[in-house]
Amino acid sequence: MPPYKEQGIVLRSAKLGEADKIVTVMTQGAGKVRAVAKGIRKTTSRFGARLEPFTHVSLMLYRGRGSLDTITQAEIIAPHPNIRADLALFAAGETMLEAVDKVAQEHERNVRLTMLLLTGIRALDARPADSTAVAESFMLKLLSLSGFHPSLTACAVCGAADPQLFSAGLGGAVCNGCAESGVGPVSRAALAYLAELAQTDLGVAGSVAQPEMRVRKESRGLLYGFAEYHFERRMKSVPMLVRTTQ
Ligand SMILES: [Zn+2]
Repeated sequence: MPPYKEQGIVLRSAKLGEADKIVTVMTQGAGKVRAVAKGIRKTTSRFGARLEPFTHVSLMLYRGRGSLDTITQAEIIAPHPNIRADLALFAAGETMLEAVDKVAQEHERNVRLTMLLLTGIRALDARPADSTAVAESFMLKLLSLSGFHPSLTACAVCGAADPQLFSAGLGGAVCNGCAESGVGPVSRAALAYLAELAQTDLGVAGSVAQPEMRVRKESRGLLYGFAEYHFERRMKSVPMLVRTTQ
């Protein structure tokens, strides 16, 4: 097979043997790609630090027989150095990379997901006032893009205004009439804050007015609980899909 060229964001890299690394990259045209970079850990490696997480890279690859491709060339498009130099930015960025790694399918083209990640990483590298808010806004957009947009301003089931309960399984905020067991209360302030983050561009999400810490904690708990519920279910459903289509 001929080599192919792709650009994307490095999600993670792991050691392989003495000198190699397995690098996972979210690419524009080929979806999530796992590839071996041979000799990358030698001091003479031509790859240097080009394949570190958060880096926007241009790659030349060979398609492997299994799920592993081989990287033959790597050039940096943007290194995003600020993220690695700041603990808060790094933590927010890790959240983004991990979520995309979970959602993206190998060799399944997803330009919108790659662009969302690139926008999120650029927003963090610009050193926003509040990197946590950027990560939360990113998660809301990722959920919507993946088909799990949480209902925040109306009941997820019947559309009634001013819902005061929240259920990941039912799709977000719900009214008293639609509630099932296991549904917890939610404050208006937490829903309003999440709704604002959902519609704010990532480039300015770090400067939205912050509610008090109690509300921030509540909305963060709801958001990550919701994301975990839907992404884990989707993860579990993937192997079954693969089996039935073979
Ligand atoms: Zn309802």
